[in-house]
Amino acid sequence: MSERMTDNSQRLVVARAAYDAVPLYDPKRAPVDLDLTDNTNLWGMPPEAERTWRELPVSRITRYPTLYAAELKQALAEYVGVTADMIVTGCGSDDILDSAMRAFGEPGDLVAGPEPSFAMIPIFARMNALAYAGCVERPSHQPDIDALLATKPKLLYLCSPNNPTGALLARDTIERALRDAPGVVFLDEAYAEFAGVSSVDLVAHSDRLLVIRTMSKAFGLAGLRIGYAIGQPSLIMEVEKSRGPYKLNAMAEQTALAALQHDMPWVNAHIALAVTLRERLAGELRTRGFAPLESHANFVCVPVPDCVNVGLALRELGVAVRPFPGLPHIGDALRISVGPWPLLERFLAAFDAVMATRRSA
Ligand code: PMP
Repeated sequence: MSERMTDNSQRLVVARAAYDAVPLYDPKRAPVDLDLTDNTNLWGMPPEAERTWRELPVSRITRYPTLYAAELKQALAEYVGVTADMIVTGCGSDDILDSAMRAFGEPGDLVAGPEPSFAMIPIFARMNALAYAGCVERPSHQPDIDALLATKPKLLYLCSPNNPTGALLARDTIERALRDAPGVVFLDEAYAEFAGVSSVDLVAHSDRLLVIRTMSKAFGLAGLRIGYAIGQPSLIMEVEKSRGPYKLNAMAEQTALAALQHDMPWVNAHIALAVTLRERLAGELRTRGFAPLESHANFVCVPVPDCVNVGLALRELGVAVRPFPGLPHIGDALRISVGPWPLLERFLAAFDAVMATRRSA
């Protein structure tokens, strides 16, 4: 090819200017024996979902999936307690967030969100040529809603329970956002099942609220990439247009359907187990003199000084947790996914070994 595609600075001449600020997302996390970094379901996948996935007829694969996953929308609508025209599905809730930003934001518009929160939000904003403003949360781990509203965002992102703290948002904060935000409010409820609390009922009172959910966490289907959002039909229609056809693959749709139709007892039992073991893990950390944050999700966030190096030392022992250095009001912290107790015991043993080495150094 003779055409020059890059200039001297290696910038692709044909590249979009807004993409200069978009790095390729790569957290550079090498595979490790025990991975407690991503808050997926460490018990596995629900049994009927697994059977459906293994036995999927080849004809499902050779043909295209349904355009907008109508059958799954119906099942999700029943699960959530709304009508099917209030649901849009996507390739993970990542895809919902991305499609919704594209649907509602003109290039240059502002996305505002609390800090800390889901790390992909500024990245998705930039991927859609939107600006991002992060507002440090309050010491109570509630978003600084005054600061967020003062940015007059076109899109306001809130997350409950929040990642990485596990804090549940106060209901009146969400109501205030719906009352006073000038644009669309995204409420990310990726971990709502573990909190046992949802604000999805508020969609009945607002045509600007988009509640975002996933089957990656409580349902154990992260690898199939199934996310969905709930909102008023007019709002959902815009996200559906932006999402486009065939986004949910056939295997994902059929497996998710099986989970919703047959596996709710398994899903609910494992949510309860995650909550019990989360508290047990927090208790063990407290016994060791640490002060884990109150969590409403399937992970525990615990302040640990020099968390990056502690994380590296844990990795040497085959255990990965996610370090969050310098969190506002918290400092250095580790986020640990909750799973079966033997896995958490293995984490605790590695943690004890690392801490003992550091004390004696
Ligand atoms: N929102 C939050 C708060 C998350 O923590 C995650 C995953 N870590 C997601 C959304 C995206 O999940 P998925 O794309 O697997 O649905």
